[in-house]
Amino acid sequence: MKVQLLLCMLIGLAFADDADQRSLISSEEIALTKTIRSADHAATFHFHASLSDHEIDFVVKDLELLASIPDYGASTPLHRHFFQGPVSGNVYLTWLARRIDGFKRTSKRTYAAYVRGRDQKPGKTHSDIFLSNAYFSTKDQALRMSILLHEGRHVDGFKHARCRNKKVSYVSFDPISGIFRTKTRILRGLRCDDNAIGPYGAQAVFYFNYLRAHKYQGGHAFSPDERTLMDIYFFARILDERAVSGLSDDLLSPLDP
Ligand SMILES: [Zn+2]
Repeated sequence: MKVQLLLCMLIGLAFADDADQRSLISSEEIALTKTIRSADHAATFHFHASLSDHEIDFVVKDLELLASIPDYGASTPLHRHFFQGPVSGNVYLTWLARRIDGFKRTSKRTYAAYVRGRDQKPGKTHSDIFLSNAYFSTKDQALRMSILLHEGRHVDGFKHARCRNKKVSYVSFDPISGIFRTKTRILRGLRCDDNAIGPYGAQAVFYFNYLRAHKYQGGHAFSPDERTLMDIYFFARILDERAVSGLSDDLLSPLDP
């Protein structure tokens, strides 16, 4: 079951075109406007009425955890490239609020989260993130935070590339039991990146910088299972092998100021 849930999420990070959203959203009503605070910053996000109260609480908790990440004053070089700062709740909250206005619900099953196609154009500064069942059934909260930042990277104008219809292995990780499971799947459609600096690169760089700063107190080590997750979960979707090796090198480099 957990494998299926994560697989849903794995296949869910993509963009959809404008026509998809209009049929999904019946109301433009905002249910809640909520200010999220980090140590030094505050940012306001809108929550659409298509989200239940429980789902709004769920997303607010993810944003609050993101904002509460201590300022570690260090990160890998690519992390500073993506987020203009070190591993820090202040940095992530400011970065996300510059790109994301709010959150809406989607019944679309293919994607865990997406932003509108027209919001992925350079010059379009803000977007709403659409969230599906797959987002709410993803158990790893760090992975959910990484999904929000992945969507933020789309707003910088980075779209996905067409996958090569290649069979790849996936790993699902249950943070409660600590169990990793693998499964293979053929990646099709616009669900891959052709460079290291797109949404999957940003997501991987956040996820593993956060893990290292938080769990390993700035150390370099990953467990073999975490390496597998890094290699397979994120990098299977990056088509250019040179981009993968650049990312991999970055994620294993020291966390520096
Ligand atoms: Zn995406």
